[in-house]
Amino acid sequence: MTAPLHVSIHDVSPAFADEVRLALRLCHARGIKPALLVVPNFHAEAPLVQAPEFCAELRELQRDGHEVFLHGYYHRSTELERASMSAQGLAGRATTFVSQRVVSGNEAECSLLGDRELEIRVANGEGILDEVGLTIDGFVPPAWGLQPSLERMLARRGYRYLEERLAVVDPVAGTRKRSLVLNFASRNAERIVSTVAFCRAARPLAALSPTRIALHPKDLHVRLLRHETEGLLDWARDRRVVRAPELFS
Ligand SMILES: [Zn+2]
Repeated sequence: MTAPLHVSIHDVSPAFADEVRLALRLCHARGIKPALLVVPNFHAEAPLVQAPEFCAELRELQRDGHEVFLHGYYHRSTELERASMSAQGLAGRATTFVSQRVVSGNEAECSLLGDRELEIRVANGEGILDEVGLTIDGFVPPAWGLQPSLERMLARRGYRYLEERLAVVDPVAGTRKRSLVLNFASRNAERIVSTVAFCRAARPLAALSPTRIALHPKDLHVRLLRHETEGLLDWARDRRVVRAPELFS
């Protein structure tokens, strides 16, 4: 039997509603139901709670069998957001709309936070997804940026699925399995070319190792990456596409 393959759409947010719908269409055309990595308030500019129609679509997708993972809170870390979130406290709901635009931010949201700030952010994210009627199947830190206390904290909160760049983890059971990630990056031409080359070259390895395909909505604006994404999904269609827990089997 071939190694299991998991497909997910990152950065599921009203900020990328059209791109997420396009990624879903590309997957559905091949019979694939990707996991949805939901960001409660992308860059503090796209609060889920203010997008009821988008949330209704996500609820429908979850009812239809798509997994939903919490994917950070803001998908970046800034002093401003840290201060805002701390002020609200653990029980607080993050309804504050931080309107000040911060031009450069760190996408690896979880790797820079202290233990308590990180847990507040996860707790607030859980609150938002609950408020919009989504059930959380796991946690994927933005840019797979980790922090030493994250796994322990998620274990305490009952999480059975966490992604690292090189592995998938069941925090409650304390199990970890190496897993390849195939993903594109559109930040600059060099990254586009190198990630396309990697995703093509690594496919034979994916036959041997539990593998994740991570689609980023923004990449679909780049013609080459749209083409490569369709090729990768054509390849995925003939493989054993599973839900996340089966990556451990
Ligand atoms: Zn992301």
